[in-house]
Amino acid sequence: MSDPHELKVLNPATEQVVATVPAADAADVDAAVVRATRARTAWAALPPADRARLLRRFADTVDAHVEELALLEVREAGHTLGNARWEAGNARDLLLYAAGGAERLLGRQIPVPGGWDVTFHEPLGVVGVIAPWNFPMPIAAWGSFPALAAGNAVVLKPAETTPLTALRLAELALEAGLPEHLFQVLPGYGDIAGRALVDHPDVAKIVFTGATRTGREVMERCARQVKPVTLELGGKSPNIVFADADLKAALDPFSFLDNAGQDCCARTRILVQEPLFEEARAFLADALAAVVVGDPADEKTQMGPLISRRQLDRVRSYVPEDAQALSGAAPDGPGFWFPPTVLTGERPDSPAAREEIFGPVAVLLPFTDEADAIRLANDTPYGLSGSLWTRDIGRALRVSQAVRAGNLSVNSHSSVRYWTPFGGFKQSGLGRELGPDALTAFTETKNVFISTEGPAQ
Ligand code: NDP
Repeated sequence: MSDPHELKVLNPATEQVVATVPAADAADVDAAVVRATRARTAWAALPPADRARLLRRFADTVDAHVEELALLEVREAGHTLGNARWEAGNARDLLLYAAGGAERLLGRQIPVPGGWDVTFHEPLGVVGVIAPWNFPMPIAAWGSFPALAAGNAVVLKPAETTPLTALRLAELALEAGLPEHLFQVLPGYGDIAGRALVDHPDVAKIVFTGATRTGREVMERCARQVKPVTLELGGKSPNIVFADADLKAALDPFSFLDNAGQDCCARTRILVQEPLFEEARAFLADALAAVVVGDPADEKTQMGPLISRRQLDRVRSYVPEDAQALSGAAPDGPGFWFPPTVLTGERPDSPAAREEIFGPVAVLLPFTDEADAIRLANDTPYGLSGSLWTRDIGRALRVSQAVRAGNLSVNSHSSVRYWTPFGGFKQSGLGRELGPDALTAFTETKNVFISTEGPAQ
């Protein structure tokens, strides 16, 4: 059993201990929230341009440490070097984008009789962010940086397996001149520190990213205090490939293998129109065999290990020895390795075809026509993202309207952009992050009416 007072961070490629970090308990959370409450008052009172200037300095400091942050991510999360560099750059870019938002957090003037009516976006106070291990830096950034830009303080609890890059980001914030205690990172266990943050009466909002089951509990606990919550939860996204599609582009294996499949947007249900099915199977067999799986610190590596023994066991449970499958290779020995895999004999209602596996495993399923494709795509409790491939523009428009998901790509597997909104339909979540409205999710709208009639005589 793990020690409740410390976190042991393992390198998932070697199983070696990278660091040991103290784990926060409820008293630590309480003390952090008290400090954050003090810090946020002065921060909210700063002119927006001053907040923006400090956040831009923070972005410059992150920029100067991209390589260091990336190497830390490789060691604690097993991400490939290329991905880890992108992730550190994403945190920097979001800081710059959010900084501009501080200067553009505009209210409205609404015509009314007898006076003027104006709205203000006021910061909430202290925001609690609970981040997962699959993209430790970007997801911590998406929850925290727009909240800071809108005038709030943030207490961030990273996942127990990946606290190191978040801790480093908090140090860089101080180095850049952000006020003390404004952006605090509290590593800890979800059922101790995470719950304490959710339950704290002085935490005004929770942003949670993780499993749908955990998100449901977080939402229930927030409901007791009528506390607003943003939830980014699981996915089981379709990749719909019509017979007229560019097959090679549509079946890019990194649409589900990126980050070893530990991606809530991974296109793990490959739906292929019947005439193309055999060609798709042959193409994927070759593509999986060509994927370079290994040491994530090696520039040539395309896919690293899974995050933990627990995640490896979970992924394995979906791929029994006798499963009909196409697969690539993975290293032996220490590390949490699983080969790129496509299951070809699943029924649409089997657990592997319906549940979020969160590993390098997709299912290949045939469909007959457009209606069948839409039915299969929507036959899931999730609705996070998806791709569709066709040269018929009318069909592309019809299908993108019919698929119930928050983020769709047509003839592309485009990933998340910090300047467009991101979030899920159905049990994939609640609310949106990123994009032009990211800051308003961390504000209350206040409406003020000013009479022009003069005081009553
Ligand atoms: P969790 O949802 O348990 O973890 C996400 C975050 O929530 C972590 O920081 C975790 O802390 C924390 N947490 C856990 N329990 C609570 C709680 N009761 N109250 C408050 N915070 C809590 O995900 P897992 O790590 O268990 O992963 C399991 C599965 O979840 C994956 O296989 C995948 O299917 C899905 N998942 C989806 C993600 C997504 O981006 N949509 C991200 C991660 C996982 P701690 O690290 O200590 O557990």
